[in-house]
Amino acid sequence: MTVLIVGAGPVGLTTAHELLRRGVEVRVVDAADGPARNSRAAAMHARTIELLDQAGLYDRFDSRATQGAGIAFHVDGVEMARMNARFTTQRTRFNKVWLIDQVITEGLLRDAVTALGGRIEFGVRLTSLTEHPDRVAVSLRRDESNEDESAEFEWLVGCDGGRSTVRSQLDIRLQGDSSETWLIADAELDFATPVEHDRIRWVRADGDSMMIFPLVGERRWRLLDTVDVDHDVDGPEAAEAVAKRFSRKLSRGLGTDVTVNVPTWVSVFTIQQRAVNTMQSSRCFLAGDAAHVHSPASGQGLNTGMQDAVNLAWKLAAVIAGDAPTELLETYSSERVPVGQSLLGSTRMATMLVEMRNTAVDRALPAVFDFLKALPPVFHALEQTFIGGMSALAIAYPTSLLTVPDTNTTRPGPTAGQRLAQVTETDARTPSWTAVLAALRRPGWLLLTGPDGLDPHPLPRFVTSLPVTDLAADHLGLHTDAWLLVRPDGYVSARGNGPTRLDRTLSRLPMHTTAVAAAGRT
Ligand SMILES: Cc1cc2nc3c(=O)[nH]c(=O)nc-3n(C[C@H](O)[C@H](O)[C@H](O)COP(=O)(O)OP(=O)(O)OC[C@H]3O[C@@H](n4cnc5c(N)ncnc54)[C@H](O)[C@@H]3O)c2cc1C
Repeated sequence: MTVLIVGAGPVGLTTAHELLRRGVEVRVVDAADGPARNSRAAAMHARTIELLDQAGLYDRFDSRATQGAGIAFHVDGVEMARMNARFTTQRTRFNKVWLIDQVITEGLLRDAVTALGGRIEFGVRLTSLTEHPDRVAVSLRRDESNEDESAEFEWLVGCDGGRSTVRSQLDIRLQGDSSETWLIADAELDFATPVEHDRIRWVRADGDSMMIFPLVGERRWRLLDTVDVDHDVDGPEAAEAVAKRFSRKLSRGLGTDVTVNVPTWVSVFTIQQRAVNTMQSSRCFLAGDAAHVHSPASGQGLNTGMQDAVNLAWKLAAVIAGDAPTELLETYSSERVPVGQSLLGSTRMATMLVEMRNTAVDRALPAVFDFLKALPPVFHALEQTFIGGMSALAIAYPTSLLTVPDTNTTRPGPTAGQRLAQVTETDARTPSWTAVLAALRRPGWLLLTGPDGLDPHPLPRFVTSLPVTDLAADHLGLHTDAWLLVRPDGYVSARGNGPTRLDRTLSRLPMHTTAVAAAGRT
């Protein structure tokens, strides 16, 4: 077998799906006795939705998700402000946040993996691994029989979560210093006066803050608060106490009587805010929570992990297919480590919103909100930083080895290193953009040219060429002999004019660019 994927959470399953759709054989093992039953992630952001669309999975998720509207801020019974999940500084055809239970997400991904012939082996735990220059040897324990199996793989991807065995076997450390203890409960809520069930609420009452997140299902919410490490949540009495605690705080904060019914799930856990400084050790990789763990307040872990998986899988598939040297794989770590590390800062901000316990803050808060509302541009900028930041739409790789910058500052459209599909929902429906977005769903590289194509030109076999017309050509600056080279994960690698510049660009990429296909006026 070519690739061992350790862990069948959302990140392992995304890795498996991305590899399978590129024809790579995978084995997926998970130590748990079956699929996870407790939900965790509830929010899916715009960049992840774009990647699901590229993977051909958009419709399945869309039919199971509901739309989130943004966040509202309440202080001592008054709604002070609301921020909307609309991105104005980053164009996307998915201008929204999806609310979808992680249990559902994993189920849909498992179905997608199975549909491509993949199989998920539950009850199989990786216990050790040894790296060799040409392979990885592993020991797997089958929980049911307690039998050990030795096996060898060409590559291994550790998607085995925050307590990753793969990470410790590779002797890679999570770095960072902060840790928080969270009280989480999922419960049905009844409000004396209606509260829309489509928006996160940051609620402050008597010097304490908490957050509530709408979940799929009528009246279902996730309640989040920070607590002391030794807070007791076991047993029915504890669950009732949790319900009372949240009822009291929410009633005061929202300014209406709130009944929190006995929670269906209560948990207290301590989360480290940490990240690794490398995601690769020769033939082994880390992805998702195995590489970076964050506070749940920011709703980022699953999204970032699935984006890791997409970034890694096309590169691994290209190396396995002989289309790229192993040097390509180094760009996984160099592109994704900074993303994981920068999240530590932004999730700390979300955590701070819940942890604020200073009554001086309370006295200042109404004035702060009034000030911001009186200055719409400032408020809007804050909104786009906070909510737009979560969307991950602004992530770009301008300094990557896979990016060839150009000096043309007047050409419209995305620059090298940015997402290609910076297009609104309305424009995405036009025939020219529909053709571009359909081409993006193919698993390889894409060469977009002007309507007349380039002069017949040999291309590497992993590149497909598409002449672009009308509105999309205008948006992307694709006229006369202009072209755009797009990576399989939808980022622009380079743009330029004419075949000579294209040849030079291709020769700079860490790919085997042996020409076998002809581009141009097809
Ligand atoms: C309460 C809560 C709310 C959250 N809300 C959000 C949110 O709204 N949005 C968001 O993006 N993120 C959110 N997150 C974070 C999100 O749940 C995680 O980031 C996500 O589950 C990470 O996925 P993963 O596949 O990397 O790891 P996991 O989901 O932890 O999966 C790892 C898998 O590996 C298996 N495994 C472990 N060790 C081994 C081994 N040795 N051998 C074989 N298998 C092994 C485990 O059984 C498990 O199935 C939240 C987290 C929590 C706790």
